[in-house]
Amino acid sequence: MTLSSYKIADFRSDTVTCPTPPMREAMMSAAVGDDVFGDDPTVNALQDKLAAMLGFEAALFVPTGTMSNFCAILSHCQRGEEYIVGQHAHCYRMEGGGAAVFGSVQPQPLEHQADGTLALAEIDAAIKPDDAHFAITRLLALENTFGGKVLPFAYVQQATQLAKSRGLVSHLDGARLFNAAVAQAAGNGTDAYLEARRIARCFDSVSVCLSKGLGTPAGSVLCGSRALISKAHRIRKMAGGGMRQVGFLAAAGIYALDHHVERLAQDHALARQFAEGLAGVDGLAVAAPQTNIVFVDLIGPAREKSAEFMAFLKSRDVLVLGLYRLRFVMHLDVDAAGVEQALAAIHAFFKVA
Ligand SMILES: *Cc1c(COP(=O)(O)O)cnc(C)c1O
Repeated sequence: MTLSSYKIADFRSDTVTCPTPPMREAMMSAAVGDDVFGDDPTVNALQDKLAAMLGFEAALFVPTGTMSNFCAILSHCQRGEEYIVGQHAHCYRMEGGGAAVFGSVQPQPLEHQADGTLALAEIDAAIKPDDAHFAITRLLALENTFGGKVLPFAYVQQATQLAKSRGLVSHLDGARLFNAAVAQAAGNGTDAYLEARRIARCFDSVSVCLSKGLGTPAGSVLCGSRALISKAHRIRKMAGGGMRQVGFLAAAGIYALDHHVERLAQDHALARQFAEGLAGVDGLAVAAPQTNIVFVDLIGPAREKSAEFMAFLKSRDVLVLGLYRLRFVMHLDVDAAGVEQALAAIHAFFKVA
């Protein structure tokens, strides 16, 4: 490897990407206006584009995925109502309890199955009867991909059907919806946009992050019915998420939806390549990745060396999160050379010949 091609290989998250030159050009040439007045043509175009793409009436551009989930939960649920959600789902565990803090909406968390799903029987059993003792169960919230796993499509259909048949609405935290869609499309020999729409249409609302694998600097979009998005608009305002000439960011989103969806397959291929490169390393257990995230567990005596291992990776300019369970995330700003750099460092540490 020449010195000039050497760089930091940053696997911490698919949020670390910087906009590509053509994305920057799209941003710089965006037509903008005051989006609080509804005047930003690029924001309006992004919202219309994603709503149409996923089969919804309307959409709302928000600063973060957290705010998008928050707006969705508070639009679906009133004070004293609850949402059924995975124990490790982002919109339960990773959002500061916002729905409870600001909305008086309580979560009803359930354990995940090994494939990331919530068991249908457990969802069914968690829906509370109409009784003054209980909060009113209003919403089922799923996440796809979850921990890099694609929820089986038949499961998505069954779970959302179950919710509907019991009078619940459903929300998808699709921060990485397009990773799920690309993987599903590869499996079915279909098109990623078609699969994204098939998944999304099972739900009453869907939140998509533009700032993860799609590679924009910021922004998420919540899709739903016109009535739901109108409620969400008010909640976004309350949360301080009404932005002004934000078409500059929306332009990055439009660019990403046109140019960065199908290329997610490259991230998935890199993830597989990386996992294969670790096969047989004594001290590591690696599950075959379904999308762009590879979990690497330190097992046996290797666990005692975890801090040393992390420091070693850092000394080789390989950045990753975790300690006993490391999470390597593939994205626009890592390539085959970065994967080689990580593999070489790991092999050196574990003295693989
Ligand atoms: C990243 C992420 C979010 C929201 O992220 P923000 O950092 O608030 O944009 C929501 N759900 C999932 C599953 C995520 O990975």
